[in-house]
Amino acid sequence: TRRGDSGTLCVSPAGLLWQLRPSDVEVELLAHTRDVVSRDLPAETGLHTGWVENGGLFIASNKQRLDEYKRLMSLGKVYGVESHVLTPSQTKDLYPLMNIDDLYGTLYVPKDGTMDPAGTCSTLARAATARGATVIIENCPVTGIQVRTDDFGVKRVHAVETAHGTIQTPCVVNCAGVWARALGRLAGVRVPLVAMHHAYVVTERIEGIQNMPNVRDHDASVYLRLQGDALSVGGYESNPIFWEEVSEKFAFGLFDLDWDVFMQHIEGAVNRVPVLEKTGIKSTVCGPESFTADHKPLMGEAPEVRGFFLGCGFNSAGKRELRGSCIHTWIWMRRPWAHPDIAISLPSRRFHHSLTDNNRWIRERSHESYAKNYSVVFPHDEPLAGRNVRKDPLHEELLRQGCVFQERHGWERPGWFNPGGAAPVLDYDYYGAYGRQRHGDYTYNRLLGDEYTFDFPPHHDIIKKECLTCRNALALFDMSYFGKFYLVGPEATKAADWLFSADVSKAPGTVLTQGCVSWRGSGLLFRLCRAEPAQPSPLRDGYYLAIGGAVAQHNWSHITTVLQDMKFQCKLLDCSEELGMMSIQGPLSRVVLQEVLDTDLSNEAFPFSTHKITTAAGCQVRAMRLSFVGEMGWELHVPRADCVKVYRAVMEAGAQHGITNAGYRAIDSLSIEKGYRHWHADLRPDDTPLEAGLAFTCKLKSSIPFLGREAVEAQKAKGIFRRLVCFTTEEKVPMFGLEAVWRDGKVVGHIRRADFGFAIDKTIAYGYIRDPAGGPVSLDFVKSGSYELERMGVTFPARAHTKSPFDPDNKRVKGFY
Ligand SMILES: Cc1cc2nc3c(=O)[nH]c(=O)nc-3n(C[C@H](O)[C@H](O)[C@H](O)COP(=O)(O)OP(=O)(O)OC[C@H]3O[C@@H](n4cnc5c(N)ncnc54)[C@H](O)[C@@H]3O)c2cc1C
Repeated sequence: TRRGDSGTLCVSPAGLLWQLRPSDVEVELLAHTRDVVSRDLPAETGLHTGWVENGGLFIASNKQRLDEYKRLMSLGKVYGVESHVLTPSQTKDLYPLMNIDDLYGTLYVPKDGTMDPAGTCSTLARAATARGATVIIENCPVTGIQVRTDDFGVKRVHAVETAHGTIQTPCVVNCAGVWARALGRLAGVRVPLVAMHHAYVVTERIEGIQNMPNVRDHDASVYLRLQGDALSVGGYESNPIFWEEVSEKFAFGLFDLDWDVFMQHIEGAVNRVPVLEKTGIKSTVCGPESFTADHKPLMGEAPEVRGFFLGCGFNSAGKRELRGSCIHTWIWMRRPWAHPDIAISLPSRRFHHSLTDNNRWIRERSHESYAKNYSVVFPHDEPLAGRNVRKDPLHEELLRQGCVFQERHGWERPGWFNPGGAAPVLDYDYYGAYGRQRHGDYTYNRLLGDEYTFDFPPHHDIIKKECLTCRNALALFDMSYFGKFYLVGPEATKAADWLFSADVSKAPGTVLTQGCVSWRGSGLLFRLCRAEPAQPSPLRDGYYLAIGGAVAQHNWSHITTVLQDMKFQCKLLDCSEELGMMSIQGPLSRVVLQEVLDTDLSNEAFPFSTHKITTAAGCQVRAMRLSFVGEMGWELHVPRADCVKVYRAVMEAGAQHGITNAGYRAIDSLSIEKGYRHWHADLRPDDTPLEAGLAFTCKLKSSIPFLGREAVEAQKAKGIFRRLVCFTTEEKVPMFGLEAVWRDGKVVGHIRRADFGFAIDKTIAYGYIRDPAGGPVSLDFVKSGSYELERMGVTFPARAHTKSPFDPDNKRVKGFY
């Protein structure tokens, strides 16, 4: 515990704690935070942390906003967070000083409250000291970090140079807030955050405000927090001030408030609580705060140097979610697996290394994330900032054909195809802030805006056509944004045995589609096959891996870390940018591809789950027979320069068979229909293969040791206490995830991923369920219940499936129609 770290907490944060967020992980973290400050710390220390339970009120000025709140209300039930939707007049009864003329409704969370930063920090420090923590040196600037390269060629922290001398240590945690970039530079580590001014003002006394709940008026982008008998007012403006030259000597400093920028919050606040117009401002608090590209913190080991951890970039929520430097450090040092957000948020895994030193990208995305912090989180929204950074070889070709791209990990990947023509993403206009010319109404922006709904999106029928063409004829999916790696070297097989839960000793030519990389018994899904001494990459021996582009860096970091720790004599090579990847799927894929590929595609010569090097349109390609949509099909992994040629040859051959381009919106629907798991939604670091129904990816019948084997075996012996279940609803109702799952009248979990399945013509939803009595969740338990899914406070009868509702016998992928 360093008091220097917590010192800033004492002067700057507003201390608001809202428990409901559009993320299950954050809801869980916030509930935990609330328990710690309101219950655990006082019980442990006998001290009051300053927690005030005055409740929280979310304001909705329109239907969509209230719909979003109703989604949060349903999710809250899963975590025991009580909330109520109030009418405007009920809101007035609760908060008499509020203007309700423009209110559509509100969401009231009685157990939200206000933390006292100073009280929380000193109580924490007291608790830590009582448990043996010692404050060794205060006010001790770090002036240098010594990094050494070990025998394996890996950079590791060796020592820290300070004003009080050098400290030898293998581990440093960079909790330097807006100064984290500078501190990172001392170790050669890139810290992708920007510094901005962030502010609130405190009013004079307001008669009648005592005990009122805190207010978050999202549509006005403003919050009003109770401060004794006054209010503090702050928000997220569209034109935040970047702190360009971060001064070394500013710790505990405050800026003068720029009223031209802040005035928008005053206007919003006066509209909501009119008495403020006649109330004076007692003080202003404008401090430096760090913001990141996705408004989430940077936590975990940096990719460049082992032993150098980040704990920074808190996006004005440094304390709200227990992310204050002391507390989150404790969480991830002691229990790195406890919260998936923490694992997913690892800096090394979240942002591709080409983005972490791309200042334009970091700045644009951080600005957009800040300005949209209070916007409704719609399921199909995409950023407009930092686009067109990574383009695959088919980008221009598909753009001309109306491709509407999604942004993932810097990549532009196909979302869906607009029959109305091209929809390029223009350069970021900062929404007209800083005197920039705002783009007028342009196609991409308009298409995106049309989808701002919690109903079926207006492009539902276009996605349906892409899906059904794939089910009835064939579709081509450009999946080039995938990460493509080679694991090579004398100990590649030994390393693959250890890294992957699946049995990698299968005959050359086999493809493992669900080869889990195990980490505490959980996994990542990808294609894995033994690479032969041939094109596209002339390697002697090893494995070829293809992994979803959004988690490619995450996988890369995980695998290289394990290789380093185990000292395996092998390397991971990245050829993601050198290869494109297109997947041709559907009952007619064989007849079309037979015209393009120089190899026999019959079931006998090219069975499901095998791969070959062959030629297509005269170009050498790796063809893999597998599917992520539940159809017969092949993936072609093609050298970058040949991608357009191969693509055109396939489209030409497919024209008379009705081939269509299709994007990831179709993949999402088709794959959920077939029951294929998505990493990040169906499967995260806090899930295990057994819970996710992926036991078959673990080589437990063999005696081969693998990373996580003990955890999987222990869980198998103990039983499974939560399980991923597939649900369908008869009523065609849009669901997107976060809906509550009811079983026999009790909430037993929530939906992680949902979509509409066009072939079965039903809404499909996947979620983990538990037994409220605490028992194991067997298949009989799943089958015996009566289920409902709650969406925005309304329940819909649902059926639980223990097998995929589409092609449960897996015939289509094997070519039997
Ligand atoms: C106006 C305002 C309102 C806010 N409201 C809220 C809120 O309501 N809820 C909430 O949760 N959060 C809020 N925040 C955000 C919260 O205050 C921050 O996220 C949190 O303080 C960040 O903590 P930190 O420890 O990461 O960084 P800091 O508190 O900035 O601490 C960084 C420390 O690193 C030290 N340092 C820098 N360089 C070195 C070096 N070379 N060697 C050693 N030490 C170094 C600095 O001196 C400093 O003490 C608000 C912030 C502001 C500005």
